Amino acid sequence: MTFNSHLGIGMTSRRTRERLIQRLRQEGIRDHAVLNAIRITPRHIFVDEALASRAYEDTALPIGHGQTISQPYIVARMTELLMEAGPLDTVLEVGTGSGYQTAVLSQLVNRIYSVERIGELQRQARRRFQSMGIRNIRLRHSDGGLGLPQFAPFDGILVTAAPEGIPLALVNQLKQGGRMVLPIGADQGQVLVRVTRTSGGYEKELLERVVFVPLLSGVQR
Ligand code: SAH
Repeated sequence: MTFNSHLGIGMTSRRTRERLIQRLRQEGIRDHAVLNAIRITPRHIFVDEALASRAYEDTALPIGHGQTISQPYIVARMTELLMEAGPLDTVLEVGTGSGYQTAVLSQLVNRIYSVERIGELQRQARRRFQSMGIRNIRLRHSDGGLGLPQFAPFDGILVTAAPEGIPLALVNQLKQGGRMVLPIGADQGQVLVRVTRTSGGYEKELLERVVFVPLLSGVQR
């Protein structure tokens, strides 16, 4: 998928983005499709104008409501872990936030459902996707810890806020062999986990230390 050309960027910005891709490679991101999705996703659209000049740094940035847009490395890493076994048809994301991770995924999968509990963040994300002409994202304003049973099962689930343990409601919405990538744990003690649904239940791999905002329950306007 390509994005509307009015969002096209000048040479300077193209160089800045290329530097980010170089850095992600150095940090160990190997998947070409993932790197390319990051290369063509205009991250500056997903942050406040005042922060746009920092959009291609490999760092998390505030998006209001006490939330953050994830660091590009972590977006790339989680996407790579989700996609490792091959192409995915339908994916659920929990925690739309700015919509940046959603936009990256939208280029790699057929359809993505994304759930956000803060209404204002969801509305902003929707406007961004519309301006970019992205059509394969379905947004919902709800508590993502419950998943979206009406659209399950999913080939993959990506959670961008940390629960304290593996939410079984989400595991149950994975197809057999489907994967979920998520941070687990409180505050400073979080670890990135990949869960694979098996016939008897699920398997989990503990991957690396991460820092995410907590997964909260309930919704907010
Ligand atoms: N992927 C996003 C990350 C945003 S931070 C980005 O790159 O911009 C995590 C987001 O998860 C926040 O917007 C927060 O409001 C949301 N969140 C936290 N708990 C949630 C829940 N139970 N259901 C849905 N969204 C939730």
